[in-house]
This record gives sequence, structure tokens and C-alpha cells, in this order.
Amino acid sequence: MNGIDPDGLIAETLIGADAIQARVAAIGAEITADYADNPPLLVCVLKGAFVFLADLVRAIDLPVEVDFMAISSYGSGTQNSGIVRIVKDLEMTIEGRDVLVVEDIVDSGLTLSYLIKSLQARRPRSLAICALLTKPERREVEVPVRYVGFEIPNRFVIGYGLDFDERFRNLRAIGVIDEARLG
Ligand code: 5GP
Repeated sequence: MNGIDPDGLIAETLIGADAIQARVAAIGAEITADYADNPPLLVCVLKGAFVFLADLVRAIDLPVEVDFMAISSYGSGTQNSGIVRIVKDLEMTIEGRDVLVVEDIVDSGLTLSYLIKSLQARRPRSLAICALLTKPERREVEVPVRYVGFEIPNRFVIGYGLDFDERFRNLRAIGVIDEARLG
């Protein structure tokens, strides 16, 4: 762990690597059962969801397809304005497809709520959301998340794809940043 965190910014592990792997396997099995007749197109929201997606696709026993989207929020710092810009759009057409959006974390819900509206306008056959993490306390708009990895408290988490200043995405576990060290 020291190699990834030489400055000791990580205060504690919130969810261990084994627990994440077990939960991802369970979600993959659920998706395999739910979509057995209609294999989904997985839409990965970059960058935070790329590690989750990589493990999740290998836990789904169906001929799934994958595409990527990148969005950026205009909110400053930890404030999310809910105004979102599509930085990289999908390469595939989703009209008539069963789409499963793969997100890292749902916080206020503003980002996803915008994304859903944008994707819904393209008339997929179905649209569902799979999020590794959710912070229910922070929700400002309700978003229907069909598959949830873990509910977590209102703390800033990193690891397993999630970053702080672009770092810590390569951590196998999910940890909490030591806020006292951030200044
Ligand atoms: P929302 O629009 O739901 O408030 O924000 C969702 C986005 O904010 C996530 O996709 C993620 O990029 C970022 N975010 C929210 N909470 C955290 C957190 O605890 N850690 C990290 N690294 N990113 C977060």
C-alpha cells in the first residue's frame, strides 16, 4: 500500500478488496439472470467506473457489448452544480438497445440524473443503472439505481477506479482520505 500512498493520505480502508470482488461477482450473476434473453450494452462512465467495469464484464456470462462516455461537471471542488458536459460521447447507437449504465458512485445524483435524460432521449429499449457505491445521505435528486454494490457514509472515498486528484485509482480496496492531511 505504501507504494501507492507514499504520503500517507489514506486514513483507513472502508471496503476491502475481497469484499469488493465478492460483491461484483454477485452483481454479475444478477445481471446474467436478469438479462439472459436480452444481453445489455454496458455504458461505462469514465473515468471512475473503468476498474469496476473491467471486473463486472468478466462476472457476466452473456454476450455483452461495452461503450464509454466521459462527462465533466461544472461544479467547483466538492460542490456539484448538476450542469454536466459530455466530454466524450458514445460510439454506438443505443436506440432499441437494453442499456446498463455503469457508474462508480452516486452522490447527489445530479450527474446521473442529467445522464439518464440525455440517454433516454436516444430511445433505448430499456435503461438501467448499476453503481458500485452510493451515498444515500447526500442525495438531492432521486435516481433509480437498479444494482448497488455498497451503501457508504458521507465520506470522500478513493480506490478501485475512484481518484483524489487523479491518484489512487489503482488501489484494489476502497479507502478514505485523511481529511486532516488535505489542508
Ligand atoms: P453526483 O452528481 O452524484 O453528486 O456526483 C457523482 C460523481 O462525483 C461521481 O461519478 C464521482 O466522479 C464524484 N464523486 C462523488 N463522491 C465521490 C467520492 O467520495 N470520491 C470520489 N473520488 N469521487 C466522488
